[in-house]
Amino acid sequence: MGYKEAILSPIIIHFLYHVEYKYLILILFYTQLFSDWGHDFRPDYNALGCLRRDYPNVPLMALTATANEKVVRDAIQVLGMRDPYIFRNSFNRPNLSYEVRKKDGKTIDYMANYIAERRNDSGVIYCLSRKDTETLADKLQKQLVAKGIRNVGVTYYHAEVDPAERQKRHHAWLTGKVSVLTATIAFGMGIDKPDVRYVMHYSMPKSITHYYQESGRAGRDGETADCILFYAYKDKKTLEMMIRKSSTSPNCPAMRRKIDQLYGCLRYCENEFLCRRTMQLEHFGERFDRAKCNDTCDNCKAGLEPEHRNLSKEARDILQLLDELSLMKSGRGVSLLQLSELYRGSKAKSFTKFLDISKLSAYGSGKKYKKADLDRVMHALVFEGLLQEISQENGSGFNSDYLQEGPKAQMLKNGQFQFFVDFPSSSTKAKTSTKKKTVEVTSKTSSSDKTPHKKKKSTKTTKKAVKVIKLKDGKFQVPVEILDDSDDDVRKVGGKSKASGEKPILPKNHTDVLVKRIKKLVSMWADEEIMNGNKVFYWNIMNNKAMGTIAAQVPLSIDELIDIGVIGENVVKEYGERLIKNLNAFIEQNGLEKYVKGKENKRRKLDKDTKPAASVSTTKSRVLLDDEFDIDIDFSTIDIPDGPLPTSQAKSSYFNK
Ligand SMILES: [Zn+2]
Repeated sequence: MGYKEAILSPIIIHFLYHVEYKYLILILFYTQLFSDWGHDFRPDYNALGCLRRDYPNVPLMALTATANEKVVRDAIQVLGMRDPYIFRNSFNRPNLSYEVRKKDGKTIDYMANYIAERRNDSGVIYCLSRKDTETLADKLQKQLVAKGIRNVGVTYYHAEVDPAERQKRHHAWLTGKVSVLTATIAFGMGIDKPDVRYVMHYSMPKSITHYYQESGRAGRDGETADCILFYAYKDKKTLEMMIRKSSTSPNCPAMRRKIDQLYGCLRYCENEFLCRRTMQLEHFGERFDRAKCNDTCDNCKAGLEPEHRNLSKEARDILQLLDELSLMKSGRGVSLLQLSELYRGSKAKSFTKFLDISKLSAYGSGKKYKKADLDRVMHALVFEGLLQEISQENGSGFNSDYLQEGPKAQMLKNGQFQFFVDFPSSSTKAKTSTKKKTVEVTSKTSSSDKTPHKKKKSTKTTKKAVKVIKLKDGKFQVPVEILDDSDDDVRKVGGKSKASGEKPILPKNHTDVLVKRIKKLVSMWADEEIMNGNKVFYWNIMNNKAMGTIAAQVPLSIDELIDIGVIGENVVKEYGERLIKNLNAFIEQNGLEKYVKGKENKRRKLDKDTKPAASVSTTKSRVLLDDEFDIDIDFSTIDIPDGPLPTSQAKSSYFNK
C-alpha cells in the first residue's frame, strides 16, 4: 500500500483516532502530493476532507518536513482546518555549503579527487537513472584504485538491485564500510545517518523542493557538509521528457506545474549572482538576509555583481529568426543549438545545410556574443517562457527537442513583456580568482581549486522554534516572518572549539593514522553491539568530531579521557578502558613516547598543583594488553544480521537500558 492509500485508509484513520481518542495526528510525508492530487487525483484529494467531517471535534495536527506556502495553503484547505496555527522552523541549514558546478568531461575526475581527499567521510551521489548509478560507481571506484586508494568503497543503490543485496549495501554504507553510494532519488526515505559529509547531484534535481530535501540529507549531525550540484542544461531535456511521459494528458495543469518547478530549478542552476541559500529559502516563502550566508555558497564566495541587461530587442530578433527558419525548413524542427548558432552567424555546414541564409534577417546579429554568454541568453529565453522546447521523435526513432514560441512570446512582441538577462558586471571583480563563475571557465579540477570546505565546525545547531501565525477567516497570512536562529557568526568557521582547536600532540601523519584506527575500533564495537542484537551504529558511540579530538589529544588514562569531555559518561564506562588500552599500545608500538612525555609532565604538574591524590598514573595504565587496533578483521567475511538478533546474554549494559 502506497503512502497515498495509507493516509486515506479508513482503518488507519480509525486506528489513530481510537489509539489517541483525543486528537488525530496526520503525518504528511509528501505534502506536495496535496497540490499534485488536486489535479491528478481529484477524488482522493477530496476524500481527505472526510477527516474533518467524520471527526468534527477532534483536534487535528498535520506535520511535514518541507512545504512551501502554496502547499501549506492547499493542505489547510483540503483538511478543512479551522483557524489553524502554523508552526514553522526556519528552513536554513547553516552547516551546509552549496555549490553548483558545470557538468562536463572532467566531472568524474573532480568527484574522484574530492572523495580521495575525504577517505573517511560518507557521501551520497544522486543520479537520474539506474544505469547512471552503476556506471558512475564503477568509474569512481576505478579512478580511486588508479590513485592507489583501495580502501574507499563506492557502490550503487537503486530499486532494481535485489532487496537482500540492497539491504546489505545500505548497511555497509551506514556502518562506514562503504564510503559512497551512488543512488537514484528513491534512496532517501531510509537514510538516517547523521554524518553524511557530502551530497552530490550528478544531474539536476526535479525542483528546488526536491533539491532541498535531497541535499538536506547531508550534515544532520550539525557539522559542516557540502552540497554540490553538477549542472548541464541538457539534463533538463531528459527530466522534461520524463514529466511529459508520466502525464495523463498533454498540457494538463499538474504537468505544467511540474515543468514550472523544473524551470525554477533551472533558473537556480543558471544563476551566478544570487545567494543559493536565499534562493532556496525564498522558494519556501522565507526571507533570508544574504549576509548571514557567510560565503557558504559558491555565488556569495564569488561575489559577482549582476548587470541587468534589457535584451527585449535581441529576444524579438531571435523569435523572428525562429519564424523564418521554421518557414524555410517547412516543418522540420529547429533546435535551440541551431537557432543559437545561426544567430551568432555560424557558417558550419551542420547548421546551414539547405538554408538560404541571406534570407534570414537576424542571421549573425548575435555575433558579438561569446558562446557561453549566448547560452545564458538562450536558456533564459526558455525558462522565461519566450521559447519552448518540444520533444519530437525524428525519423530514426530518437527524440529531439524542437523549438516553438513560448507562452510569453506574444507579450514580448506586443511590448507587454521585457526580457532581462543578468551578466557579470564588468565593474566588479570576483572575490576569488579560482572561482569558476565567469562563464568562459569550464574546467576546475586542479588541486588548487579547493572544494567548498575542509571540515569546519559550525558553532551551533540550528533547531529552534518558530513563528506562530494565526489564520483568520480561512485566510493565509503571508509573508511568514520566521525567527531566524542563525547567528551572524554561525558559519564563521575557524573559530575553534576547546577540543578540536588544540594542536595535535602527535605529528600529523600519526594523528591521521590514529583517527582511522579509532574509527575502525569504534565501528568494530558497533558491530559487536549489532551482533548482540542492539541496533547501534558507530556514531551512536562516538561521532567523527570526538574521534578527531581524541586522536589529537591522545588521552592515556581514563581521567584524561573524561577531562577532554567529548564523549559521554556511559560511553567512557562501557568503552573507556578499551580505548585507553589501544591508545597506549599505539604510542608504544610507534615509539611516540617523546611526544606524549611533555604532556605527561604538564599533566603531573597540574595534578600536583590541584589534586595530587586523585592523579592517575598514565604509565600505570599503559600496560600493554590486547591491542584491538591490530586485530585486522575483514568485515566483509562477517555475516552481520540486518535486523536485531534474539536477545543475547552478552548484551551491553550501556545500550541495555
Ligand atoms: Zn550565499
